[in-house]
Amino acid sequence: MTPPLHSPKEYLFNLHVTSSGEAKRLWRRHIKEEWDNECAYCGSAENLTIDHIVPRSKGGPDFSKNCLCACHSCNQDKGHTPVEQWYRSQEFFSNDRWDKIKKWTKPESAINLYTYGSRRNNLS
Ligand SMILES: [Zn+2]
Repeated sequence: MTPPLHSPKEYLFNLHVTSSGEAKRLWRRHIKEEWDNECAYCGSAENLTIDHIVPRSKGGPDFSKNCLCACHSCNQDKGHTPVEQWYRSQEFFSNDRWDKIKKWTKPESAINLYTYGSRRNNLS
């Protein structure tokens, strides 16, 4: 399966869809598929929503790396609490799931920075 595109806008730009409403729907569906239609935190398959890891109200972008599939109750319960602090205090906390969440959210730019850094070291 191809990973979700970076943001709803890319579905529009790449002409997968013709309206921003459709773009959002497709993007949400791809993110849920990427999480096997299960809550990333507790594994529930009920009332799935798109959770912003950094809430939009705190400047979190509508990018795939900042969004994952979460059930309504986790999404509501987490609220504005930092994700790691919230998740570790849950009784359904799982190291496997937390690893997957960390991998998912790891910014691609960090990889670019690493490549850039090692290239610079080779020059000196
Ligand atoms: Zn959940």
